[in-house]
Formats: sequence, C-alpha cells, structure tokens
Amino acid sequence: PASGEELLKLEGVSKHFGGLKAVNEVSFSLRSGEILGLIGPNGAGKSTLFNVISGVLPPTSGKVTLHGKDISRFASRQIARLGMARTFQHVRLFPEMTLLGNAMMGGYTRAHAGMTRSLLHLERSEEAALQHAAAEQLGRVGLGNVFELAGNLPLGQQRILEIARALVADPTLLLLDEPAAGLRVGEKRELSALLRKLQGEGVTILIVEHDMDLVMNVVDRLVVMNYGEKLAEGTPREIQQHPAVREAYLGG
Ligand code: ADP
Ligand code: MG
Repeated sequence: PASGEELLKLEGVSKHFGGLKAVNEVSFSLRSGEILGLIGPNGAGKSTLFNVISGVLPPTSGKVTLHGKDISRFASRQIARLGMARTFQHVRLFPEMTLLGNAMMGGYTRAHAGMTRSLLHLERSEEAALQHAAAEQLGRVGLGNVFELAGNLPLGQQRILEIARALVADPTLLLLDEPAAGLRVGEKRELSALLRKLQGEGVTILIVEHDMDLVMNVVDRLVVMNYGEKLAEGTPREIQQHPAVREAYLGG
C-alpha cells in the first residue's frame, strides 16, 4: 500500500535536553500512503521525536521536511495547516463535553489554550461547517452517539475519539502516540481495523506503539529507536529477525 512519493523526511534530527540526548541524529522517511511504526523501549525518544516532527518542540539540530518543504522551525499550528495532525500519549479530552464538542476541537489548528476561546468567537456558519465535519469524522471512525459525554466512554473509544478529533483537520499525515495503550483485546482489534481503513482512504500514518501484535499486523515498515538513536529500520519480518533489535528490545 506504500504507494507514493516521499511525504515526510527526517535528516539527522536531534533533540537534546541539556546533556540528555533524547533524540540523536535520527533519519528516516515516510512515503505517501504508508503506515510506519516507531518502536523502542520507554525513554527511547519516540514522543520527543513526535514533538519535534509536529512542531511542539524545535529540534536541536537536523531537518524535517514535509512535501519537500523544510518545517524544522515551523510552529505546530503552521505544520497543522500543512496537513499534519497528531494524538498524544496521554488522553487529552474534555470529559464534560460531548463527543461532537471534543471532535470540533480538532478543527482548530492552534495551541490548546487558544481553542476554547476561538470556539466562542466562531461565526454561526463556521460553527455549522465545523459541526458537520466533526459529525462526519465521528461517523468515519464508528462513533455514532455524538451527544454522549466523552468522559462516559470506555478508554478504547476515548482513544478512537482522539483520532476522530485529529481527522477533523483533514490531515494527509496522522501521528499516533501509543493509541492502543490500555485497550482491551477487542478494542485493539477495532483500532487495527480503523488504521487499515484510514490507510485505504489515503491517510499516511506514523504510529508509536508498544503492542507488538498490533504493530506487526498493521505497519508496512518499522523504525526502531533505542537511547535516542535509530537502531534499525525495515519490514516487520526484517525487524523481528534483526539481531540488535532482538537483543535490545524484543528480549533476545
Ligand atoms: P519515549 O516516548 O520513547 O518513551 P520520550 O521521548 O518521552 O521517550 O523521552 C525520551 C527521554 O527524554 C527520556 O529520558 C525523558 O525523560 C526525556 N525527556 C522528554 N521530554 C523532556 C523534557 N521536556 N525535558 C527534559 N527531558 C525530557
Ligand atoms: Mg512516549
């Protein structure tokens, strides 16, 4: 399914926090239509790398290009406007708001703090359009009861709701940080099916995930990180047979 041209490219990307090299000289690229898995032990630098790619944190050095455009120094909202959306490792929903209200938040390509304020300043027609888009994306991920409160959903559906919220921005590239964390087996199966469906609909996906069954079944290729560095890259089969990966990560 990895059809297309190079969508995202990382060249020697580093993010250091003082003396800690959280991400160190990481390079890889992602083709349009691909699902690429990013795996590695806790503390390997996966979430930090997501933060750099999505503009939450500037890189210490190195270059990130999206559609051939250098976005290394872009703010997160500029990057969002170029078609990148993400979820976070820890669920960030408004539990007292409806699914629809939460999904609508994804229509704002600006920082968290600004979202609620900008919702209040929407024109009626803009609000209607946003509601429509939010309802559409909730339907796309299979969340039907749009007036339910987000806090009433089981964790698995909260994570699906976060994906719907990201989809409201109509991304070409979706970054998912451990979307299956805490999910039950059935919920994981639903998540896998959703990821394949989105891929079929043309969404390119970069996914951090610890669940090896899910990862090995869903991704086209994998990048393995360890101590901030890229340890290996390849198909699931290649990675499973990779000696350094087995030793460092898969437990020998
Ligand atoms: P992973 O997502 O692979 O578990 P992280 O990217 O969260 O790893 O963390 C990589 C390393 O960077 C860890 O040692 C973590 O403590 C550190 N780290 C992450 N964010 C910060 C930060 N904002 N300031 C200082 N250290 C950080
Ligand atoms: Mg993480």
